Amino acid sequence: MQGVGFRPFIYQLARKNGLTGWVCNTSGDVTMVVEGQQGCIDQFMTELRANPPPQSHIESITEEFEPTGNYPQFEILKSLVKNEEYQLISPDLATCVDCQKEIFDPANRRYRYPFTNCTNCGPRFTIIEDIPYDRSRTTMRHFQMCPECKKEYDDVENRRFHAQPNVCPVCGPRLELTDSKGVPVSVKDVIAASARLISAGKIIAIKGLGGFLLACDATNDKIVRLLRERKQRPDKPLAVMVKNVVEARRICQINRQEEELLNSPAGQIVLLKMKSTSIIASEVAPGLKHLGMMLPYTPLHHLLMNEAMTPLVMTSGNISEEPIAKDNSEALARLGSIADYFVLHNRNIYSRYDDSVVMAEQDSVSIIRRARGQAPYPIKLPFQSRLLLACGADMKNTFCLTRNNHAFISQHIGDMENAETLEHFESTLGQYKKLFRIEPEMIACDLHPDYLSTQWAVNEAKKTNLPLIKVQHHYAHILSCMADNEVLGPVIGIALDGTGYGTDGHIWGSEFMIADYQGYQRKAHLEYLPVPGGNAAINRPYRTAAGYLYSLAGPETLEMDLPCFKDIERTEIAVIRQQIDHKLNSPLTSSCGRLFDAVSALIGVKQRVSYEGQAAMELEEIADENVRDKLYPYNIETCAGIDIIRLKALFLALIADYQKGVPAAVISAIFHNTVVRIICETASKLSRETDIKDVALSGGVFQNRRILNQVSLELKKMNLRPLIHKRTPCNDAGISLGQAAAANMIEGRN
Ligand code: ZN
Ligand code: ZN
Ligand code: FE
Repeated sequence: MQGVGFRPFIYQLARKNGLTGWVCNTSGDVTMVVEGQQGCIDQFMTELRANPPPQSHIESITEEFEPTGNYPQFEILKSLVKNEEYQLISPDLATCVDCQKEIFDPANRRYRYPFTNCTNCGPRFTIIEDIPYDRSRTTMRHFQMCPECKKEYDDVENRRFHAQPNVCPVCGPRLELTDSKGVPVSVKDVIAASARLISAGKIIAIKGLGGFLLACDATNDKIVRLLRERKQRPDKPLAVMVKNVVEARRICQINRQEEELLNSPAGQIVLLKMKSTSIIASEVAPGLKHLGMMLPYTPLHHLLMNEAMTPLVMTSGNISEEPIAKDNSEALARLGSIADYFVLHNRNIYSRYDDSVVMAEQDSVSIIRRARGQAPYPIKLPFQSRLLLACGADMKNTFCLTRNNHAFISQHIGDMENAETLEHFESTLGQYKKLFRIEPEMIACDLHPDYLSTQWAVNEAKKTNLPLIKVQHHYAHILSCMADNEVLGPVIGIALDGTGYGTDGHIWGSEFMIADYQGYQRKAHLEYLPVPGGNAAINRPYRTAAGYLYSLAGPETLEMDLPCFKDIERTEIAVIRQQIDHKLNSPLTSSCGRLFDAVSALIGVKQRVSYEGQAAMELEEIADENVRDKLYPYNIETCAGIDIIRLKALFLALIADYQKGVPAAVISAIFHNTVVRIICETASKLSRETDIKDVALSGGVFQNRRILNQVSLELKKMNLRPLIHKRTPCNDAGISLGQAAAANMIEGRN
């Protein structure tokens, strides 16, 4: 991977061990020749394996003997670039400790300079226009290095040797403060002024690495509410930035693994359990006990957080679900109604890049959103792949391009529901195709005819005359998990999520299957139940609850005194009944997500939601940690070789508990235990039938910590091997990888 200081490292290591020869970047590989005493070469190889530069990844090393070349010294040769070859590109990296020291050192020439970077940190992917990675092919080409910066750049012993974005206050980009109309505000120090404005209750749009972030005081409910109103984001949790881990610990419980994630060069948002004494405004993450937190990842953030009086909300600069704004004029136009002031600069962002989101549970790390700090680093596949484009699904979408054994999954693109996101999809795709030299020979997409991504794929296939492969949503989830774990299968696949188009025309969402890259067999699912109103019910879980109760337990349940019917007009209940009786816009679903919604509404946790998964997340948050053994009853019925999990007994028991006054926290816990039981019982049965021990767990439901932990634990107890997503999200952002894996194995290819 270029831009991580690998060649200077080799240079110094060779010289230290008294070796001569050369090192050279080719497209893809690093080639080197070292000449000297065998013992010194052995020592060189040991150190190379043990301590490569922090940002490099060594995939493999091939060694060969050469006749002696009598090299007088060790040299770095000019890069060899072949046009059709590709190179891996580093993600953007959080400011390293050395650069942090410089910006806070009054004696340093980069004191308080917000664009400081070096070979170990700074922008990469967001500024690259083409390969090979040279300053002339980045948005830094507009800035000519001053003699002092050039000296650093040319000095192989310097930390900034060949650091393409190298700059200083003399020669680099500058900050500017403007009002919401873009009129410059004259201040002595933009960062100090911004910190003061934030303390005074203003909302500021700050240009960052991959786009604009909106910042405000995270301890002030009134301001956070105002930000929510302006951003049209009523409840979805907002991320918070704090100065350092010490400050983070005042707000959240943080274990060693979480601390490592916070400090990682990826500079990502980490979901952490909030302390009850936290000073964070309740408006930041309403209804949730977990908070998304990050540390400063650019010099600008470090300087700002050093002066800010409080933790700051730092959320993507966009309205609702639109893509993050990246250009100055675009930001002023789109965010002018949200932000009171803008902190702009004149370094262009080439690629939109949201913050990544991760969480740690027990010994594993789950990626919720894969973007800055992670993409475009590829996923290594357990097989060689042809040149493919997979277009993903709908929500939280990504695309995936494959070549050799590399899957390049795009950074988070967003929900494919508006023209802006489609534009982001297309331009990012164009960029990946160019950077990684991939001209796809085949296109894959979801089965759902209404997805924008499917429609785009159908069109594109027609335009380019390429074969189009449609891949079932939950099968794609399972293949994504398999590829992520570099497993060839077959596996027992368990895909639990909100919605996916089924091959029988129903909405699937709790699919137990036997799968490998060649195909799958559906083996079990939750029984089909009607969702009155279809998509409209997704925002109104009480509708799902009504539909489920009515079809499972009859009309009298709709008359019961249950929280899900409390604030609902009787006329709406009548409409729901009619919709189900006459099968009007009441699609049948086996969705596990809808089951969580129904239970959440039924026991009074959440009746209406404003973001995907809200009802389920709040249900998870209240579940009593100490209730671990109790279960609700359920039945399994086999129809035509497929196990159908019947839910009537579960709902009746749940209602009975509610009516007895059992607290919602306990009911939620028993419900969670029951879902775990259903998953493990089905997995164990399928394992007995097939002798397969690998169980791939995928789909958004596995973002639920309690379900993921408990299922993993119990599968291990049964001597089964749970496969969980490690490098990709288990939610729909991972779908594109699974589609690519499926399409790659289509008959006659590979
Ligand atoms: Zn640095
Ligand atoms: Zn300079
Ligand atoms: Fe899904």
